[in-house]
Amino acid sequence: MKTPSWLERARDTRLQVRDFINGHYVECGLGNTSDDDKALISDSASINKYSPRDGSLLYQVDAGTVESVDNAVQSARDAFNDGRWSGLLSSQRKAVLQQLVTLIEANHEELALLECLDVGKPISTALHLDIPVAMSMLNSAIEHTDKIQSPAGSDGGTVAYGVREPVGVVGAIIGWNFPLVLAVVKAAPALAMGNSLVLKPSEFSSLSAGRLAELAVEAGVPAGVFNVVHGSGAIVGDALAKHPDIDLLSFTGSTVTGKQMMIAAGQSNMKRLLLECGGKSPFIVFDDCPDNLDMIAGFVVQQAFLNQGENCKAGSRLLVQEGIKEKLLAKVIEQAAQLKPQDPLDPNAGFGALINEGHFNKVLAYIEKGKEQGATLVLGGNAVEVDLAEGCIGSKPDNSQRSGYYIEPTIFDHVDPNSTIAQEEIFGPVLSVITFKDDDEAIAIANNSCFGLQAYAATQSVARAQRLGRDLKAGNLMVIASSTPNMGNVSLPSEPQQQSGMGAEMGLAGLLSYSVSTVVDIHA
Ligand code: NAD
Repeated sequence: MKTPSWLERARDTRLQVRDFINGHYVECGLGNTSDDDKALISDSASINKYSPRDGSLLYQVDAGTVESVDNAVQSARDAFNDGRWSGLLSSQRKAVLQQLVTLIEANHEELALLECLDVGKPISTALHLDIPVAMSMLNSAIEHTDKIQSPAGSDGGTVAYGVREPVGVVGAIIGWNFPLVLAVVKAAPALAMGNSLVLKPSEFSSLSAGRLAELAVEAGVPAGVFNVVHGSGAIVGDALAKHPDIDLLSFTGSTVTGKQMMIAAGQSNMKRLLLECGGKSPFIVFDDCPDNLDMIAGFVVQQAFLNQGENCKAGSRLLVQEGIKEKLLAKVIEQAAQLKPQDPLDPNAGFGALINEGHFNKVLAYIEKGKEQGATLVLGGNAVEVDLAEGCIGSKPDNSQRSGYYIEPTIFDHVDPNSTIAQEEIFGPVLSVITFKDDDEAIAIANNSCFGLQAYAATQSVARAQRLGRDLKAGNLMVIASSTPNMGNVSLPSEPQQQSGMGAEMGLAGLLSYSVSTVVDIHA
């Protein structure tokens, strides 16, 4: 029998968005409320989700209610208090989470399809990047579950030691660019440490979160421990952020919303905060590697345009030393020009669509701003139509939605480091090129940003790499230091700096972020 195409599979997939509370699906915004209350809230507004690929209506998300958040938090609180998960041995939680990895693997094609449909990313990216990264994040948390150590000391007959416990109920709010990965980044350390969780996915990418929670229950996570509530940021996100019974709020999204999370935490119960926010990462190329420019250009293009540039760590500012500028830029343009927006459901596509019409228009407005402010457009800059000969996934709305939201990889040269496109996070396929003379100038330009998430550099000088590690304001610095760089994955936990956020979520440090410690002094 012929294997169905991804489009056929997409059309056969029932796309519905329901809250997942206390181990089962419930209608969004209804939770376990009484019939009388349901009548009052069932007319709440809904959000139309259009396909990034073709502009057809994929599904609708209820804007949600405060009541559904209350129900989900209560479910998580009950589960936490009775110890059905928090009271297990770490080895028991580990075994269950290992089963969850197995189930993600077993369902990887379905999960990848949901990511592709929601985000507009190529199906190959979803299969070969999103799913493996989600699994490795979960594996990393699992590895550390039974390796939590606490300090101990003694003085005469007095013994002191630390006890580390799960923090309690975690509220997690996430953005839309890597929905499953971001959900796992929160759920993995939260669950591994023994917490209960209420997760709110973005209203623009709602499909995979409920499925992840459902798989967690199938793996053996007890009902009530992992809950999902859908809806708008203004209603559901706000209610979660201000909820008095959430102990830790873990947020991934824009810096603007991250600041609102700090206010919400302060105005409510001073809940703990983990914030993973925006970035405007520099990729600094020095002139000491003139023979490796093809390889370096490949890294620059990959970091700038991965996931259509909708990537918090996108290397969206290319800082290049003047001696190699012309040569490197020619190679970057040549390689980026190969990336053509294509149907995300085409298995050969390497570059897909932007998430929605609003974001598409925002990226185009930034491109116009770049031109207005005097930067030189050297590649792309246009919205394009993509041939979708086989038609739409969902029903085509009779309004002004475009047939998909595609923008070419775009490069600006001669960008003023203080201009809008060099300062603001575009979160789309736009690379700004800036020239520098020496190390001091490179570092000054790189640090001329309110963000501090990630930096990239290409240099063969170990001394220079060490200086960059000290002087750059970035939670993570990746250095390409040879002509054949070894791409091993050590993945130490990093913490965002400046207005890119705060707190670590990966590895052992991540588990500690999802816990509290008590120091016990025993004077016997
Ligand atoms: P966003 O801030 O608009 O929304 C993020 C989440 O917050 C969504 O679930 C949204 O519904 C919710 N929200 C919005 N307003 C809220 C409010 N007032 N109260 C509570 N919740 C609210 O961000 P986005 O556009 O979804 O995502 C893109 C941003 O996320 C970019 O800035 C990107 O850099 C960042 N991001 C950061 C990382 C990281 O690890 N640092 C990873 C991915 C994305």
